[in-house]
Amino acid sequence: MSYVESVLTRLKEQNPNEPEFHQAATEVLNSLQCAIDANPAYEKAGLLERLVEPERTILFRVPWVDDQGNVHVNKGYRVQFNSAIGPYKGGLRFHPSVNLSIIKFLGFEQIFKNSLTGLPIGGGKGGSNFDPKGKSDNEIMRFCQSFMTELYRHIGADTDVPAGDIGVGAREIGFLFGQYKRIRDEHVGVLTGRGLSYGGSLARKEATGYGLVYITEEALKSRGDSLKGKTCVISGSGNVAIYACEKAMELGAKVVAMCDSNGYIYDRNGIRLDVVKQIKEVERGRIKEYADRVKGSEYHEGCKGIWTIPCNVALPCATQNELDEESAKILVKNGVTLVGEGANMPTTLQATHILQEAGVVFLPGKAANAGGVATSALEMAQSSGRLFWSFEEVDAKLRTIMVNIFKNIDAAAKKYGFEGNYVVGANIAGFEKVAEAMMAHGVV
Ligand code: NDP
Repeated sequence: MSYVESVLTRLKEQNPNEPEFHQAATEVLNSLQCAIDANPAYEKAGLLERLVEPERTILFRVPWVDDQGNVHVNKGYRVQFNSAIGPYKGGLRFHPSVNLSIIKFLGFEQIFKNSLTGLPIGGGKGGSNFDPKGKSDNEIMRFCQSFMTELYRHIGADTDVPAGDIGVGAREIGFLFGQYKRIRDEHVGVLTGRGLSYGGSLARKEATGYGLVYITEEALKSRGDSLKGKTCVISGSGNVAIYACEKAMELGAKVVAMCDSNGYIYDRNGIRLDVVKQIKEVERGRIKEYADRVKGSEYHEGCKGIWTIPCNVALPCATQNELDEESAKILVKNGVTLVGEGANMPTTLQATHILQEAGVVFLPGKAANAGGVATSALEMAQSSGRLFWSFEEVDAKLRTIMVNIFKNIDAAAKKYGFEGNYVVGANIAGFEKVAEAMMAHGVV
């Protein structure tokens, strides 16, 4: 049994009932095989065993009271996975599906993603099984205050800097930050994605979606192509999807479909993003309403059907495992040429293989959606330096980071004989820096 196989076997034995974490670890470790074989010192140092075990896992109770006076209790999580190259960094997810397996898969992926940005940030992730849907602003505030009343003691500007993720946007970050500041009596960069009036960075809101499109454009450019005139399907209609749509359209693509967790809209004339923003960002409504407002568009129940719409470029930006084997086959049949993951692990392992075998350019999330966390690190830099950069300055840095990520994953794939396989390229490029730092620190 190889070193990688034995670590994976042990991981599955010691962490039963964590399928998402198994999936992420299997995908990463298998693709690192050649880099591991080239460096036997890693096995001697127990590097992989340490890499797959979080440095610290915090589980806590989050009690809160709803508007009717009923008491509720949710589960709170923060997994501080790896701080070899910098303070833990990664978002908080509030969604009923959240459990330890999902937080661990996200935290594990975050280690490599953060390394790929070239910035000094380690990997972590957190959240709660709280469902923000249908809650009043006051209920959201009380929940966030309760969540932070425990979390505050584990985080800090140089220790662990959480951000948003699914269900945690500007409103939630505001409530979380307010409570942290109240308890600690310090105004520091302990959370990113903050509002512009209290230490946030311009372009953070747009960063993940814009970054996804920058790396997509770079991958197409390396093949003498571009987004101009391409038909795109973008799943989701949250933060990542909306700004991916905005930038893709700016670069000349036509986005024809988006979705939420209930269903998808198809607009053959090209999505009207102003209408989507009004429904999702202002009214916090459902994507269904788009079809009532825009003539000629269609709404279909269920999200999976979105992948049956013919497109050149598909950008899954909703959630994990939303693009399965069957959908991948349909995309290939319909002539898709590039799939770029805006969400974390939206494509199943089987679907990824189908796309890669069909010669589709596949950009994995840890590279393709790294623009968000990279800009969070730029927010941290501005906080520490008491600076405020212009939108253009941050956006230019983001673009450079995404172009460099593409160059690095492309080079790493070539170096190990996997040209064009960006899954291998991203995992190896992300891993090498973390491994070097862990080796330098000794067994800790
Ligand atoms: P949001 O909460 O803003 O939006 C999530 C979108 O995905 C919504 O449209 C939501 O629909 C939809 N969605 C959620 N769960 C499901 C589901 N089970 N099936 C179908 N659709 C679903 O989150 P973000 O846009 O911030 O995050 C989207 C993805 O991108 C996540 O995987 C996240 O981890 C990843 N990501 C986000 C970053 C960021 O900066 N925000 C950075 C890097 C990665 P509904 O409204 O119905 O729930």
